[in-house]
Amino acid sequence: MIKGIGASQGYGIGTAVIINDTITDYSNIKFTDAKTQKNRLKNAINQFISETEELAADVKKSAGSKEAEILEGHIVMLSDPLMQTQMSDNIDAGFVAEKAVDTVCNMFIDMFSSANDELTSQRASDIKDIKTRLLNILLGIKSIDISHVPKHSVLIAKDFTPSMTSRINPNNVSAIITQIGGITSHSAILARAMGIPAVLSVPDATKKIRNKDIIIADGFKGKIFVNPSAQELEYYSSLQTEYLKQKDSLMAYIGKETITQDGIKKSVYANIGRPEDVQNVLHCSGEGIGLFRTEFLFMDRNQEPDEEEQFEAYSTAARAMDCREVIIRTLDIGGDKEIPYLKIEKEDNPFLGHRGIRYCLDNPKLFKKQIRAILRAAVYGCIKIMLPLVTCVEEVQQAKALIKECEAELNEKKIEYKSVALGVMIETPAAVLISDILAREAEFFSIGTNDLTGYTMAVDRGNAKVCNLYDAMQPAVLRAIEITIKNAKREGIQVGMCGEAAADTRLIPKLIEWGLDEFSVNPGSILQTRKAICEYKSKNPDEK
Ligand code: PEP
Ligand code: MG
Repeated sequence: MIKGIGASQGYGIGTAVIINDTITDYSNIKFTDAKTQKNRLKNAINQFISETEELAADVKKSAGSKEAEILEGHIVMLSDPLMQTQMSDNIDAGFVAEKAVDTVCNMFIDMFSSANDELTSQRASDIKDIKTRLLNILLGIKSIDISHVPKHSVLIAKDFTPSMTSRINPNNVSAIITQIGGITSHSAILARAMGIPAVLSVPDATKKIRNKDIIIADGFKGKIFVNPSAQELEYYSSLQTEYLKQKDSLMAYIGKETITQDGIKKSVYANIGRPEDVQNVLHCSGEGIGLFRTEFLFMDRNQEPDEEEQFEAYSTAARAMDCREVIIRTLDIGGDKEIPYLKIEKEDNPFLGHRGIRYCLDNPKLFKKQIRAILRAAVYGCIKIMLPLVTCVEEVQQAKALIKECEAELNEKKIEYKSVALGVMIETPAAVLISDILAREAEFFSIGTNDLTGYTMAVDRGNAKVCNLYDAMQPAVLRAIEITIKNAKREGIQVGMCGEAAADTRLIPKLIEWGLDEFSVNPGSILQTRKAICEYKSKNPDEK
């Protein structure tokens, strides 16, 4: 068994297809004259651009505009006059077109790789992707056609470049395994969006696994079995059958009211990161968006989205949800979520540092731009705002003052907007301990158990030695949740939960008992959560 990170749920059983980086040997291409080489280069660039435009158009339809933007970015990068001039200069120096491409791309790859931050190293992987495809075009090599792998293939690669992932056909691919990448990598996001089980960060996967090996991938626990025994195959086949049966049976909960056996009405909302995700939410009849993680709009790019772009994203989600609530969380960066162009200083303890609401209050220009976009988008649906990582009342009061300033600015400029309800995320022990006071400042609460569990248990969730303590079922975390719900109820405000624990079937009965109103889960867990709520029957008939 090999261990990696379970990044997309499900069990995949199939035959290994190793996607190795193509080896592009151009040693037999001889330099004739610069004009011929420059023509070859020009034709290859034109072919690259037209193929990429087609690919981006397909991806826009199948995976959404954010993924398509990555490919469009490749066209922009290759169209950069500096890059093309350098290639041309290399040809003038006597290089064949292939060597010119190789040399210039390698120079950019080295430059981006040495920057040692996530966004810039992503640029390096984009240039690698461009280089391989451009060399393949020059040499007439057909790129690996992932779209035509046989049924039940388990794809194994060091990593999947955006242009590779966009070609995956989910009907033929049983699982995805990569050597690098984590829960928030492109591969993980795409695998979850396509419902393909994925295990990432598997050390030496492309070396330890050979083509045609039989593979079991457990996307829950992040385990890989290579050429498993008959017993292992039988065990995982039965788990897979059971999982698929359960998934099928959940379809009965599409469009069903979320109501307990005792007639208590609850709501199942969803967590999203992009407006396109709303389609998955509607497909499972999610009753609202309980957490729009806006940092995804800010990640994987070179500069922050302007007010108009944010307005588009928020209003698109609001319109699509059609009168259902959309709770937009203001920018929550810091901790593990790095956005290099914001130039946040490196900190010794980033999880205890300048993140969430702290960063936004210290950067009012950026914060107000986001608030104005949200207020304007509120005209098109039912939007609410919530603040991440609150630890004291003053933070909420300062945010309210900035919201008022934004309203005044919009009034003055006669720009249409709507005032929105303001909520607070309860995800620190400090917020729990003053939740009675916060409940008088906020119009609703949303409990963020992902952070609350870590901060309450004093556990770094990335540290394997202490991960057994990272559990929302720990009595200390349960108490924190109970206190928060009780204080919200006492002050008569709505209380939801948007951490992963909202979908934990062990916890759902307690949450109902304590009076949680709204369960916000990832779109793939909506039906399972609704089922657990619908099956709940109170032991205490007076419970309301
Ligand atoms: C949480 O902390 O529970 C939460 C929902 O926020 P995030 O996972 O984005 O930190
Ligand atoms: Mg959080």
